[in-house]
Amino acid sequence: MLLDTHCHINFKDFKEDADEVIQKAYNEGVECIVVGAEKDTSKRAVQYAEKYERMWAVVGLHPVHLFGWEYELDGQIIQSSAEEFDYDYYKNLALHNKVVGIGEVGLDYFRIPDGESLESVKKRQMRVLEEIIELSCDVKKPLVFHIRPSKGSFDAYSDIMSIVKEKGVEKFLLHSYLGSREQAKEFLQAGAYFSFNGIITFKNAEEVRDIARYLPLDRILLETDSPYLSPDPFRGKRCEPAYVKYVAEKIAEIKNIPFEEVAQITYKNSKMFFNIE
Ligand SMILES: [Zn+2]
Repeated sequence: MLLDTHCHINFKDFKEDADEVIQKAYNEGVECIVVGAEKDTSKRAVQYAEKYERMWAVVGLHPVHLFGWEYELDGQIIQSSAEEFDYDYYKNLALHNKVVGIGEVGLDYFRIPDGESLESVKKRQMRVLEEIIELSCDVKKPLVFHIRPSKGSFDAYSDIMSIVKEKGVEKFLLHSYLGSREQAKEFLQAGAYFSFNGIITFKNAEEVRDIARYLPLDRILLETDSPYLSPDPFRGKRCEPAYVKYVAEKIAEIKNIPFEEVAQITYKNSKMFFNIE
């Protein structure tokens, strides 16, 4: 059994065939956690989790959705709506028994909307993140962080480190980790878990493989970030949860251990991190 801890079956890319894609994943022994990015996708994540037995949801407000703009992601134009963080709305979703975490939330300094500066973006994202961390404590569900530093820097990772220390956050997941090795060490000591996706299979991702080699397997989770970041040999095509096995294969190769061991341990880690029975 494998667990794709971060997929977006709830996004419009799967509008026509989500059920088939989910069935295909089940047939291949893959269970999923569906992750929201704003109000509508968070609500849909919960609806999928209600519909399928071995499926769970994570709900939250992605930092890019604090601004109303369009940006490119993995070859697609994404529209985002300037959403205010509505504590009660998210709390209501978060209390659902199939909701296992708060995410994806965090800091994104890479994409700066027109009319904003790095400073204004930081300020706004930090303010909202403080409220989100409060929600996570309130409902006792762990945080799933999306962290993207500004070009050529690790700034957003340093900032998240300061916040988790200041707020005393003891358990959190760094989704699609792309920080430095030194920061990975510090995050490990702070109790972080790390999830890897198709990026780990990309030719130019030697640094990501180095991090995965360095991290103990008991802190690693698997994900796809579907519909984005399809692993080789599907790079550029729509990603889907069934492809999580390519991520597991690559980690087995990097760590020189059997695929089964990666599958078993990451599955156990995921269940423990998200408190899934
Ligand atoms: Zn995502």
